[in-house]
Amino acid sequence: MINCPFSGTIFMYIEQTLTGRLNFMAINVKRPNGTEDVLPKDVHKWHTVEKIARETAECYGFSEIRVPTFEDTDLFLRSVGETTDVVQKEMYTVMAKETKFTLRPEGTAGTIRAMLQNGLLNEALPQRVYYILSCFRHERPQAGRLREFHQFGLEMAGSESPTADAEVISLAKTLLDRLELKNIELNINSIGCPTCRAKYYEALRAYFEPHKEELCDTCRERLVKNPMRILDCKSPICGEIGKDAPMILDYLCEECSDHFEKVKKYLTNLGIEYKVNPKIVRGLDYYTKTVFEFITTEIGAQGTVCAGGRYDGLIEQLGGHPTPALGFATGIERLLLVMDKQGCDFLTPKTCDLYFATMGDAALEKAMELTRELRELGYRAEFDLMNRGLKAQMKYANKIGAAFTVVIGDNELAEGKAMLKNMDSGEDVPVPLNDKFTANFDSVFIDRMMASFDTGDMPLPMFQTNGENN
Ligand code: ATP
Ligand code: MG
Repeated sequence: MINCPFSGTIFMYIEQTLTGRLNFMAINVKRPNGTEDVLPKDVHKWHTVEKIARETAECYGFSEIRVPTFEDTDLFLRSVGETTDVVQKEMYTVMAKETKFTLRPEGTAGTIRAMLQNGLLNEALPQRVYYILSCFRHERPQAGRLREFHQFGLEMAGSESPTADAEVISLAKTLLDRLELKNIELNINSIGCPTCRAKYYEALRAYFEPHKEELCDTCRERLVKNPMRILDCKSPICGEIGKDAPMILDYLCEECSDHFEKVKKYLTNLGIEYKVNPKIVRGLDYYTKTVFEFITTEIGAQGTVCAGGRYDGLIEQLGGHPTPALGFATGIERLLLVMDKQGCDFLTPKTCDLYFATMGDAALEKAMELTRELRELGYRAEFDLMNRGLKAQMKYANKIGAAFTVVIGDNELAEGKAMLKNMDSGEDVPVPLNDKFTANFDSVFIDRMMASFDTGDMPLPMFQTNGENN
């Protein structure tokens, strides 16, 4: 029984194997429903997505921004919208010292708040920022729908031009292409501006009024406050009723219609295929004009991997000067689900370049010294930290996939040299155990890399950039 300072008492049952390793542990504190652990064996997949996302955003002129995990609840009420599922059902809100805070359910509100508060919108426009962050929504957990999930997203503020819409959609498309995602369809729509929406709301109210009693409780309220939200309801009954509802595209004002035509034209010019889908209304209230989703059918019902659009009214709504803006967010867990499903060839994570197996204290000290020198050059080097015998050390080196090993014992110390073993080929080369060691290792290591490229044993890594492969 162990006393844990965080959560009271944890009961642990530990079964020891003959080798003394822990191999089973039952623990009565589990991670909360709808959250995930990313284990070391999988973290390289996240690194791959994050690296490509950062590089793609940066080559379109976006810089990273980091914002708080929680914000004043009011921020989300005023931006995401009081009649949305997110605000009505999904927010994690806590009362702390008489102020209501909410764990961010999405990245846009906090990012725009930060841009305003820090005067970014007074600088050269358009301002372009991207983020990688966790979001929290109390939803029913299922594949691709979590209570804590992660988004890569970005926002561009200051441009009302349809070129900006094309630029942001093109960025999203480039990202999905660079991640080598296949069978993803771009759906676009325009949900107009407050001018065209006034007439549209009237038409929607007239359409839904006769079905009022059949709508879910939330949608009955939406019918009064924000009828377009009914089209976004996840209830199958509301979905069925809304099937033949009037479409916003038929109600666009001249300016919105012209904007949408230009976005479509630019996308066509850029060779980006799209489908106009009048059913896309997006789940957050701040959108205006262009909205879009990249959708796949390969991961079940949660098929939207990337979604976004224009939100020209939001900045003013949050107290800034009227400033048009737009952005998108991708769910990283959903991206990874699709990538896994499509057999994406992630880079195998590098574990250990050189493992020193040692016998005796003097050898161990030598290994510690050489390890430090190798690490200065950026190699991943290890020595025995477990007081294992030589055989067990070699078994460990194999297990962690060490590329090379060196055994150091009394003889090697006396002679001042040891054998460097290539664990793939089994080849041995003598190396001096002095200040020439790292230089020798360096050249053998590079030779091995070159040889494997030549023979085609080791295909060029898919995500190699700037000469790095990890
Ligand atoms: P959905 O219709 O699937 O609920 P949404 O409209 O609520 O999506 P957005 O708020 O636009 O989603 O979030 C952008 C992206 O974040 C989504 O396209 C999706 O990839 C991801 N996402 C949203 N909610 C979740 C969740 N609960 N778990 C995992 N990813 C999510
Ligand atoms: Mg949702």
